[in-house]
Amino acid sequence: SGMDPDIAYTVRVVVIGDPSVGKSSVVRRLATGMFSENHIATIGAEFHNVVLEVPIPPENAPVAVRVQLWDTAGQERYRSVAPAYYRGAPAVIVMYNVCAKSSFTAVASWLSEAAAHLGHDGAVFALMGNKIDLADASGVGLREVSRDDGEALAAAHGMLFAETSAKTGAGVADAYVAVAAAVLADE
Ligand code: GDP
Repeated sequence: SGMDPDIAYTVRVVVIGDPSVGKSSVVRRLATGMFSENHIATIGAEFHNVVLEVPIPPENAPVAVRVQLWDTAGQERYRSVAPAYYRGAPAVIVMYNVCAKSSFTAVASWLSEAAAHLGHDGAVFALMGNKIDLADASGVGLREVSRDDGEALAAAHGMLFAETSAKTGAGVADAYVAVAAAVLADE
């Protein structure tokens, strides 16, 4: 609860990107440890709280951080997200699907929308390539965006980078810990 004396910080993270890249699924994976193949997108505000143990430099002692995950909850189908959703957010994750090149090409426009509405210059940005379980399935070969291309785009925009799977959970918690640690390092 909000009264929990052991939680030292709350970090709000907004997650944006093209429809169907897996934003809700990754948030749900982190918040509940579960995955659903037939999630039905809902319209409206939706958020989850997750408590993560985040190592804080220089000692890297783990600190309990409440990560408040804001899911666009389907608004992105209208190609943009309400400005209030971004305003003041300390961290923004732009997600694409490693098996859908068009979602990777769209990252730049999601970044500029976020930058236009954040209202500050200090946000931590992370690029997240999701659905690596499909990319890596032996003999299937669905990958359309290489890890190298993801890393290069992230570096060009000063973003953290991670590849994830909401289905297997690969990379998900580590990515959010890295985002939370970067936000706390900036404070
Ligand atoms: P959103 O529109 O970006 O929130 O995407 P959703 O979370 O609704 O996911 C869209 C579809 O992709 C759903 O059918 C999910 O089950 C599926 N999905 C999401 N993440 C993954 C993943 O990492 N691997 C696989 N195989 N499917 C995924």
